[in-house]
Amino acid sequence: MNADQPPDPTHRTWAEIDLSALLHNLGVVRSLHPDTAVMAVVKADAYGHGVPHVATALASAGVEFLGVANATEARRLARTGTDKRIYLLGPTAPGERPEIVHHRWVSCISSLEEAEHFDQLNAAAANPPLPVHLAVDTGMGRGGFLASSLPGIHPRLQALPHLHLEGIGSHLSSADENPGFTHQQIDLFNATLESLGGAETFTYRHLANSAGLLDYPLGHTNLVRPGLMLYGISPVPGHQQNLRPVLSLKASITLVRTLPPGHGISYGRTFVTDRPTTVATIGIGYGDGLPRNLPSQKTTVLIGGQPCPLLGRVTMDQIMVDVSHLTTPPPPGTAATIIGNTPGHTAT
Ligand SMILES: *Cc1c(COP(=O)(O)O)cnc(C)c1O
Repeated sequence: MNADQPPDPTHRTWAEIDLSALLHNLGVVRSLHPDTAVMAVVKADAYGHGVPHVATALASAGVEFLGVANATEARRLARTGTDKRIYLLGPTAPGERPEIVHHRWVSCISSLEEAEHFDQLNAAAANPPLPVHLAVDTGMGRGGFLASSLPGIHPRLQALPHLHLEGIGSHLSSADENPGFTHQQIDLFNATLESLGGAETFTYRHLANSAGLLDYPLGHTNLVRPGLMLYGISPVPGHQQNLRPVLSLKASITLVRTLPPGHGISYGRTFVTDRPTTVATIGIGYGDGLPRNLPSQKTTVLIGGQPCPLLGRVTMDQIMVDVSHLTTPPPPGTAATIIGNTPGHTAT
């Protein structure tokens, strides 16, 4: 695809997804944790990048699991024909469980009731034991067994004949902002493993999201769950330069005019020209997801690689930018990069 043309000439706004950048970022995960399996997190339609292409690329690069939020996402992912194991990252609703059992998607278990329901459903299906992972709450407060309660409950979970306790996981709440608390979570996870019979009790032990795997030693874990960093965004400083943003968001210039001094631009006339100003109108606005409160003049888009400042407020489907400083005014149809692989223009 020509990088500066929309895939369909009637599209004014489009996203470009760079799968080679995605695979580069997966390579960063692997270089940091070479002996560790990868669960690539593709929830929320692969962070908005589109599950089918993203999941296919990650699967061909040999990740072990693909992580999603719920059964609806799991179903969409399964329809891509992936042969990778599908993991549900949060607690399941009872109504989702028959489908999960049928497809043998992997759930993380947060309560004895959830485990018993899966056990019954899998017994009724006369399947071999269903692989599940135990979720441990080491401080996120969102799901899982309390770390302190798990040793007491573990024998009852182990006694469920139609479940296979294949893995155990926890989630870091503050790996991008609080090292002290993160180390406490890692220590509590390791202590929980010890109290359940040692790391080898579970085939998979996992704890780290992107921030965790970028900045922390991961103890006895052998599976990491990166999301954000696969898409090229580092949640912590010091790593962004090693990652490549996967998404570019572009939009076409629809009109270029020179306005006289004293001419207001956009709703509320928050910007008024003080000199003759060449203004490009671009076919993107808050209806396309651009924040409505982007600050005038401080926000820039790239045209021909040059930053061009936003003038006035974002409207529903159009913005105006100053192109007076460009040596030749860009003709209508030129692509402007709203988000791209350039410092200051990445999708943070
Ligand atoms: C979303 C999520 C991840 C990925 O987190 P990032 O910060 O995007 O890397 C990992 N594990 C769980 C349980 C999640 O919900």
